[in-house]
Amino acid sequence: EVRVRFAPSPTGPLHIGGVRTALYNYLFAKKMGGKFLLRIEDTDQTRFVPGAEDYIQESLAWLGIPADESPWKPGDVGPYRQSERKSSYMQYALDLVEAGHAYYAFDTSEELEAMRERLTAARVVQPQYNSITRTQMKNSLTLPEEEVKARLASGEPYVIRVKIPRKEEVRLNDMIRGWVMVHSSTLDDKVLMKSDGMPTYHLANIVDDHLMGITHVIRGEEWLPSAPLHVLLYKFFGWEDTMPQFAHLPLLLKPDGNGKLSKRDGDKLGFPVFPLNWENKETGETAAGFREQGYLPDAFLNFLAFLGWNPGDDRELFSLDELVEAFSIDRIGKSGTKFDIAKAKWYNEQYLRSKTSAELVKLLVAEAKAEGMEIPADKAEALVNLTKDRCTFAADLWNESKCVIIAPKEFDMAVAEKRWNADAVKVLSNYAGALKAYSGTFDAETAKTMLGASAEAEEIKLGKVMQAVRLAVTGSGAGPDLMEVFAILGPQEVANRIQFALD
Ligand code: GLU
Repeated sequence: EVRVRFAPSPTGPLHIGGVRTALYNYLFAKKMGGKFLLRIEDTDQTRFVPGAEDYIQESLAWLGIPADESPWKPGDVGPYRQSERKSSYMQYALDLVEAGHAYYAFDTSEELEAMRERLTAARVVQPQYNSITRTQMKNSLTLPEEEVKARLASGEPYVIRVKIPRKEEVRLNDMIRGWVMVHSSTLDDKVLMKSDGMPTYHLANIVDDHLMGITHVIRGEEWLPSAPLHVLLYKFFGWEDTMPQFAHLPLLLKPDGNGKLSKRDGDKLGFPVFPLNWENKETGETAAGFREQGYLPDAFLNFLAFLGWNPGDDRELFSLDELVEAFSIDRIGKSGTKFDIAKAKWYNEQYLRSKTSAELVKLLVAEAKAEGMEIPADKAEALVNLTKDRCTFAADLWNESKCVIIAPKEFDMAVAEKRWNADAVKVLSNYAGALKAYSGTFDAETAKTMLGASAEAEEIKLGKVMQAVRLAVTGSGAGPDLMEVFAILGPQEVANRIQFALD
């Protein structure tokens, strides 16, 4: 059975790249008829941020991609928070020490710093605790066994480091990138157990993936450099046969393609890079979310799926079920994907506009209500039909309808300066008079015919005064189809508004 996991660290709000990782794990699990697990990787107490865990859960819930097994819905391989599994990791580290694949190290931070300085002075580009430098450091590979025992017995602080072999080609066959080969001389002796008795990410991650029966590790490209170490750890533990397959997802890039997308790009260019609004109660740090900006979850999800994957043809609109059906790891690209907020908006428009009139009316009424306004029941449907093609977000339904619901008290002066003139006044006066006297049925066609007649009576070309007419009735120079607006308002209201503008 396929079992995949999303394994975020609760160190802040989930970035859009993280949500995409969760989505691809979800899609792959469902496509394969397998399970999608959520594991909280919270062993680094110093980076713990309150609220981050809830944020992760709420984000997945909003998108409708909840985990099959998680801290809130435990399966058979729990607990699903690493902090609750912490007592189990030490034994695995000790097993590696026993087998000669890991060792105790007693170096103080000053000694480590001195080593780095020495190497930097000798022009070593990346000073590392590795198969060469470890011979000069204070660890159980260099100290006499008796001394190691004595130090451990006296309670001296230590870490456990992995012993990277000196000359070995480490290979892994990534499902997206193909064969990746790394020489072990480029790897360092990473810490597996920290001096506070907590495991590092590498140890906890491997042990848990193994114990939780994970078959595929789908995660961001930033973890690719760690993968060779992980492969070695599987080997050292003797778990090669059940080693998961790796798939490292391409980076999300800035809109201009220059480097990794960051929160600051969003702030600078005015778009969110997080699914939900976020506030860190302790630091006051905030971030804007797609949800609160008015994105519909199914539109955002569809957008997200296409950040690195495509179905191989030109279809772009996919429900979650359709994504599951179409998804495959082969169709994930190798190169980074540029983040394009215009595309996110396009998706939202498609999803918004495909809603039924009844659904749109609900949204319009809710948006108006949030502004303390009411939509007359007999106008609601006409309003959404009039405005929906001009809308990206539900809030736009109200923004576009405002000009119908609220008679203008002020007028856009920039438009007035250009368009308001004696001809406009003549046509408008004539039209207002005709409308006041009119009592038949009134639709967009009637409104237009009567307006045409008013212009003709004054021997003025209608095109020349059209924007002034709009200005008089709606207060601005642009908006939805004007004759449809008139039809919704009715002849008397149009006449009254014109009269107000003329006065
Ligand atoms: N805890 C890691 C993270 O925050 C997990 C990486 C992985 O999936 O192995 O992304």
